[in-house]
Amino acid sequence: MRKRNKKDILAHAMRYLNGSLPIMTENNHKIILNEKLGFKTIGVNFAPASRSVRFGGVNMCKDASPLCIGGCLQHSGHNVYSKSDFARIARTVAFTMEPTTFVDRLRKEIDRFIKRTRKKGLEPSVRINLLSDATTLAWNMAREFSNVQFVDYTKEILGVEKLMDYGSVPSNLSWGISLSETNWKEWRRVMDRGMYWGAVVIDAKKGSAIPQSFDGLDCIDGDLSDARWLTPPGSVAVLRIKGTKEAKRIARKGFAIPKEDHRWTY
Ligand code: SF4
Repeated sequence: MRKRNKKDILAHAMRYLNGSLPIMTENNHKIILNEKLGFKTIGVNFAPASRSVRFGGVNMCKDASPLCIGGCLQHSGHNVYSKSDFARIARTVAFTMEPTTFVDRLRKEIDRFIKRTRKKGLEPSVRINLLSDATTLAWNMAREFSNVQFVDYTKEILGVEKLMDYGSVPSNLSWGISLSETNWKEWRRVMDRGMYWGAVVIDAKKGSAIPQSFDGLDCIDGDLSDARWLTPPGSVAVLRIKGTKEAKRIARKGFAIPKEDHRWTY
């Protein structure tokens, strides 16, 4: 990001709060793929992990691992542009400063999106965390809009397990449990409950064939769309490694699983 100061960020954050800029986006390569399946998806691009903290934001990925931060999709495609980085930080600062106003605006945008999408004959769906892991926000919004499909990826496994124990996960929220280099034991435990699908990054080239199973769990190609609620619970969405050379180099240290790993079956 070119040199910006807190003042620029703050001015931009105010535009999200006063409604002069939309908070949500439908223009994301991955969620656009859902349209061929009859769904239209809208999501929020927050700044991942602690990227926004020095500008007045908060850590948006409580359980991020060192290597997932380095290999995160913030380092891939259009996400790497400084304009996108700046907007993500300002959005996160807006959410941190005025959560009530922010959520109120979010609510209005989701409401309008649902009406607009259904008018076009498509089924609306929402992904609160396109580049973050704010599980409580996703959980709250899914409960509020109970007639709409929500989807999210998360590494907050202990929090999700607690919600599962209390039976308080909204049925319209499809959660993907993301594997990292630090959460194998918890990941495997929650996958055994068969309630959610898993997400695993493989060190394989774009377009290459994906394995049949991972540690005995059926695999599907997670790159074909983002309509993950169609992924059977207990199975794994396999995502091929992406991003800049540096992001891939970091991910290969343990976040992206090598093709040769013994847990894959071909
Ligand atoms: S990979 Fe997920 S959890 Fe990790 S930093 Fe990126 S958005 Fe956050």
